[in-house]
Parts: sequence; C-alpha cells; structure tokens
Amino acid sequence: MWNRDSKVRIEKDNNRTRRNKAWQLSIIAFSAIILLIALYTFNVRRSGYTVRREFLLDTYVTIAVNGKGSNADKLIDIGFSEIKRIDEKFNPLNEKSILYKINHAAGKWVKIDKETHDLIERSLYYSNISNDAFDITLGRLIGLWGFYSLSSTPTSIPSKDDISKCIASYGADKIELEKDRIKLRSNCALDLGGIAKGYAVDMAVLRMKENAPDITGYVDAGGDIRIMGKKYGTLPWSVGIRDPRSEDKSIDVVYLKGGSIATSGDYERYFFYKGKRYCHIFDPKTGFPATKAISATVISKNLVDADALATTVFVLGPIKGIQLLNQLGVDGMIIDKDKKIYKTKGFEYYEKRR
Ligand code: ADP
Ligand code: MG
Repeated sequence: MWNRDSKVRIEKDNNRTRRNKAWQLSIIAFSAIILLIALYTFNVRRSGYTVRREFLLDTYVTIAVNGKGSNADKLIDIGFSEIKRIDEKFNPLNEKSILYKINHAAGKWVKIDKETHDLIERSLYYSNISNDAFDITLGRLIGLWGFYSLSSTPTSIPSKDDISKCIASYGADKIELEKDRIKLRSNCALDLGGIAKGYAVDMAVLRMKENAPDITGYVDAGGDIRIMGKKYGTLPWSVGIRDPRSEDKSIDVVYLKGGSIATSGDYERYFFYKGKRYCHIFDPKTGFPATKAISATVISKNLVDADALATTVFVLGPIKGIQLLNQLGVDGMIIDKDKKIYKTKGFEYYEKRR
C-alpha cells in the first residue's frame, strides 16, 4: 500500500534519476558551450582585428573589424564610405552639401530628404530638453568666432557688438521644419557638428552589421566611439577617457561590451587669447564658448544620442548636466574647470571590469 510518504519518496527517487540525467545532459551541454566559446575566442584572437584610420568628419576615424583579409577590408570600406557620404552631406563648408544649400537659401524653402529631416528633428529634440543649450542654428556664431577657418586658428575674439548682433540670428524658432522641406530665417545658418559625427558612426555600424551580423570591433571618431560586439566575442573593450589637461593621460577607464561613448572637451579645438582659452562649443545664451565644463562624457546605446548629449551637458555644466542625464536615465561624467569630477549614479557600473 502506498502511503503519502512513500509516494512522495518514489516521486523523489524518480525525480532524482531524471535530475541526474538532466544534470549529465546539462554538464555535457555546458562543456560543449565552453568548448565552442574557447574555440571561437581562440580563432578570433588568432586572426585578431583589422584596423584602418582615415581623416574624416574633421578628425581621425578608426574602424576595427574582427578577422583579416578581404572580408574585413570590404567591411571597413563599407563603413568608411558611409561616413564619407554623411560627412559630405552635412558639412556646412561643402558647397555640394544639403546643409550648404539650406544655409544659402536666403529665407526660402528647401526640399530635404527623410534622413536630413530626421537628423534635424532629433537635434531639435535635444534643444527642447536642454532649454536650448544644444542648438544647431549657431552657424553664424561659429563663423564669427573663426572656427570655420581651415588653415588658421583664430588670434582674437569678436567684439561684443558683433556677438550681440549674431545672437539675434540663431535659435530653434528660426527653423521651420516640415516632412520634406525646411526654411530658415534669412541670416540663420545650421551647423550639425555636435551630432553628425555620432550619426555617421551609427550609420557606418549599421551598414557593416547588415553585411556581417556577427561582426565585432569598433568605430572611433576622434574619441566618440561605438562598440560592435564584445572583444574577441567575450571581453569588454576598455575605453580610456582623456585627462582634459594632459596629452597622453587618461582620467578614467570604462569597460563596454556594446553601446557608445562620446566626450566633448575644450581641448579638441580651441585657441588662447590674452591667456584665456576659447573652445569650439558655444553657450547659446552668451554667444561665448561654454566654460562651465572642460570635459563631458556620455554613454548610451546609439552614438548619435551620446554625441548630442555630451555637447549639451558640456554647455549646461556639471550641476544641470548631471541633473539632465539622471532625468533621462543616461550615464555620464562631467569635469568642471577646477577638475572636479561629477558622475551620474550609474556611471560606476561601467568603471568595473565585468
Ligand atoms: P567634437 O566635435 O570635438 O567631438 P562636439 O561633439 O561637442 O565636439 O561638437 C562640437 C561642435 O558642435 C562644434 O564644432 C560646433 O560645430 C557645434 N556646436 C558648438 N556649440 C554647440 C551647441 N551649443 N549646440 C550644438 N552644437 C554646437
Ligand atoms: Mg557632440
């Protein structure tokens, strides 16, 4: 006769046999997975990465792709040609670019494609959430300060009068954007320098992934980096964040297995005038280069967002900048002019090698 206890025991025994089998199977499966990972890692490590560097987007762009030979070369070609396409399309100094056309339309409507519409719309989103600290209408101001001169660095600063006049030329309200056309107030000019780099890298990664879904590597556009999969398929990439006051030292290191990281600093493009540093990122409120931060780093999934946000929080400075990042649930680090470091709550997660 079965009482409740024995029944339970028999079931337990059955369970144990089943569990033993399940255990054996799991151990075999687990060993097989480990072996596969080891083989994959060994293979990827043996073939390593193909790395190429080109000057685009006004900086050095590096693409690293796993493997060697014509396949890797072809993928890198695809990446660079996409970056080139976007660089040409949104460079305000290129007479053939859509941006040049928009900026020289003298207050008339200009037809635009979806890509241009979407990038401008995204830029306006960042203006909107930052109370216009991020502003793509600063073209005249950037020109006035001499940052469009390719051959020389500025040697003086504009007069207060010229800056005031210029301030009247910009602002998100000077843009009328529709699905397939745009109109700017006549003396307003767009500059997408704070976001186009991130967008170009995202698109390059997209194109390469379309051709090689298992690709690993990264695209680094002057320190704005998008990771494509774990290093050797298993490891995080360690990314050094430059000490803003040293040529070769890192102030921090983060570990990324994917996603993007962008840094805006006052050490990228700047000049000194009467002992004072003037950089290429402007505070639209004052018409002068932003001074609340000397470096701002943002980590996010897409580089287009990290890029725009790094510029945004650079202008906002550490207090408002960290507040905005926390509000958006995005991690970042901002360094002020006394080299004091401010981080979002989640930033330390990336500082640990996992
Ligand atoms: P970098 O190009 O050095 O990585 P950023 O991503 O911060 O740095 O972009 C800086 C560029 O953004 C400037 O060269 C200029 O073209 C543009 N810019 C400057 N000030 C602003 C601003 N307040 N909002 C949006 N774009 C800006
Ligand atoms: Mg930026």
